[in-house]
Amino acid sequence: MQLIDAHCHFDFPYFDGHRDEELELARSRGLRGLVIPGVRRPDWARVRKIAEAYDGLSYCLGIHPWFVGEHSRHDLVELRRLLEVSPDRCVAIGECGLDRLRGNLDDQLPWFEAQVELAQALDMALVIHSVKTHDEVVSLLNRLRWGGRALIHGFSGSFQQARKLVDLGCYIGVGGVITHPRAHKTRDAISKLPAESLVLETDAPDMAPEGVPKGQNSPRYLPDILGVLAGIRTVPSQELAPILLQNVCRLYGWSGTQVGE
Ligand SMILES: [Zn+2]
Repeated sequence: MQLIDAHCHFDFPYFDGHRDEELELARSRGLRGLVIPGVRRPDWARVRKIAEAYDGLSYCLGIHPWFVGEHSRHDLVELRRLLEVSPDRCVAIGECGLDRLRGNLDDQLPWFEAQVELAQALDMALVIHSVKTHDEVVSLLNRLRWGGRALIHGFSGSFQQARKLVDLGCYIGVGGVITHPRAHKTRDAISKLPAESLVLETDAPDMAPEGVPKGQNSPRYLPDILGVLAGIRTVPSQELAPILLQNVCRLYGWSGTQVGE
């Protein structure tokens, strides 16, 4: 079985001192690669450095809604400059987006819009953070006539919300949320969506699956998320895994053989 963690903050200090072991352990459980998102400019160089230090790792560069206040227009110019050079392992813009539970949507919106437009201009994939803002994301993508590749990472929400995003061509990121028995709405949504729209992710060290201490999530748990997903959809993991691999390859523009190369 070959799995790719489509969204993992493997650059975060939590992994310092045990990064090699985590990766080795995850590989022994079927992990073939992972994608590190960028959340703020001061982290971009670290994200790139860590992704380039290991086989199978890729990264994204972007400005996360929690950190928009730390940035200026110059940072968007720099983001564009870095992406235009199109470094090999850089596969998407993100994570960017909106978060109703932290900060102010009016402050976040221009930054999200600018990054959507950049993804369109450069024909790059987009990694979107959307917390209780799925309607706003759908309306922005519609307004900008989005037709590209995008991941709604760490999806939590209803089937109707997911359906609208999938109809816009978005992939739905399936992470630790579905391992919590109380996440009825999200589990129901994930059970009904077409398998072709789903992508596996951990968001480690955040979004700990059931039974894992908060803040200690790791890519080693990706097969466990797959197991829960397979259970919810009542299909064998072995049947689902190749479809999920194809999906993440389409999302990030890899042909089957060149993941992370
Ligand atoms: Zn994240």
